Amino acid sequence: MTSDSAAHHSPAQAGTTFLPGPVLLLGAPGVGKGTQAQLLMAEFGIPQISTGDILRGNIARGTELGKAAKELMDKGQLVPDQIVNDMVQARLDNDDVHAGYILDGFPRTLAQATWLDTHLPIFGETPPLVAVNIRVDEAELLRRITGRRTCTVCKHIYNIYSHPPVKPGVCDIDGSTLSQRSDDTEAAFAERMKAYVSLTAPVIEHYRASNRFREVDGAAPVEEVAESIVSALKSLRQSKH
Ligand code: AMP
Repeated sequence: MTSDSAAHHSPAQAGTTFLPGPVLLLGAPGVGKGTQAQLLMAEFGIPQISTGDILRGNIARGTELGKAAKELMDKGQLVPDQIVNDMVQARLDNDDVHAGYILDGFPRTLAQATWLDTHLPIFGETPPLVAVNIRVDEAELLRRITGRRTCTVCKHIYNIYSHPPVKPGVCDIDGSTLSQRSDDTEAAFAERMKAYVSLTAPVIEHYRASNRFREVDGAAPVEEVAESIVSALKSLRQSKH
């Protein structure tokens, strides 16, 4: 399932009157933001907006933006704020975001968070944005990162240790080849964690200080984490902002 196809899914019965609205999924590389965003997208019919996926799409198409981003991404460093802010701005101009969306991998710096906070009213966002931080300890993150494989077509995420495909290297859903991200190496992971600690951890504190923030334990099985996120979202949407 791609971000673009998400808009065509209808909301699940479980949430007949509940729509999550704009959601930020926060957490270190490998906590499962992408996997959880895909589940929320399927359940609620709102799109996943992953800045990493948009950048990888640009690399695959050989755009100027992709060429500028690739070297930084392969080293595990962040792409400049202006580039990702512009990408998010363009994505939020699409019509499929009105019932809500899941931002995955953005904002990653305080400057991006401030930009988003000031621009959301311009994007016409209602109800207000809520943030869920997924926590997993660092040793487990490395295992998840190095074991991650992604379907080249539907983008479903596997892990060769904890959620392997039936046939190695082949997607269970559509039979396409699985690939490993070029930044899912131990060396790039170390850099990504450095960027996370110095630049992204303050973003979590920024949203924690608001009353629109919850935290979930990401070490549990995928379905349990998904349930915790949905309960967190329901409780956030019930509380007054
Ligand atoms: P992800 O798929 O979210 O793990 O992102 C992969 C890589 O894309 C990151 O390591 C960064 O190099 C780049 N990237 C993705 N999102 C952002 C962002 N919000 N700000 C800066 N760089 C980003």
